[in-house]
Amino acid sequence: MKVIVIGCNHAGTWAVKTLKAVDPSCQVVTYDRNDNISFLACGIALWVGGVVKDPKGLFYATPESLKDEGIEVHMGHDVMKIDWANKKLHVKDLKTGKEFEDNYDKLILASGSWPITPPIEGLKQEGTAYGLKKGIFFSKLYQQGQEIIEELKRPDVKKVMVVGAG
Ligand SMILES: Cc1cc2nc3c(=O)[nH]c(=O)nc-3n(C[C@H](O)[C@H](O)[C@H](O)COP(=O)(O)OP(=O)(O)OC[C@H]3O[C@@H](n4cnc5c(N)ncnc54)[C@H](O)[C@@H]3O)c2cc1C
Repeated sequence: MKVIVIGCNHAGTWAVKTLKAVDPSCQVVTYDRNDNISFLACGIALWVGGVVKDPKGLFYATPESLKDEGIEVHMGHDVMKIDWANKKLHVKDLKTGKEFEDNYDKLILASGSWPITPPIEGLKQEGTAYGLKKGIFFSKLYQQGQEIIEELKRPDVKKVMVVGAG
């Protein structure tokens, strides 16, 4: 049995770990477009606020630790298409640009969510990493926490507005 898990953050990490623990003979493969897993986004506020000094404490697993458990981990890979009838995925290696197919017996979608960009004029900018204008940030990924911390070091940043108060 070969199971592919798309997305390897919290849901994906626990899916692959559980599958392997329950049935060690199962071939467990995961693809994630990001380069890190298990980032505790709940800690961004504490990290930005300086309470958490070392962001390493905001992770509980690494691609390497999953590989040690016998899981095939492909970071920096985007799943672009699913051929449901033939149980195949179309995948792109974001580093090399190489595209290829992989087949599965069972598929788990752990592809999560993404912050919405409110329909407010002037927020968007094409060609940037997350489609936002310079100086505007999402607060979800590890990389975005890093970007916010870097921005706050600029002496001309005096006032910050947070949109969304969840
Ligand atoms: C600032 C903040 C604070 C939070 N605080 C809390 C809290 O205190 N308590 C709490 O319980 N929850 C909290 N959450 C929510 C929690 O982080 C999310 O519920 C959790 O991340 C969801 O995990 P997930 O694995 O389902 O999805 P995600 O974390 O969204 O992970 C999905 C993964 O799938 C990958 N992916 C998606 N599509 C593809 C594709 N096509 N190909 C390859 N990879 C793909 C993504 O790269 C990503 O790694 C917080 C979230 C944020 C942003």
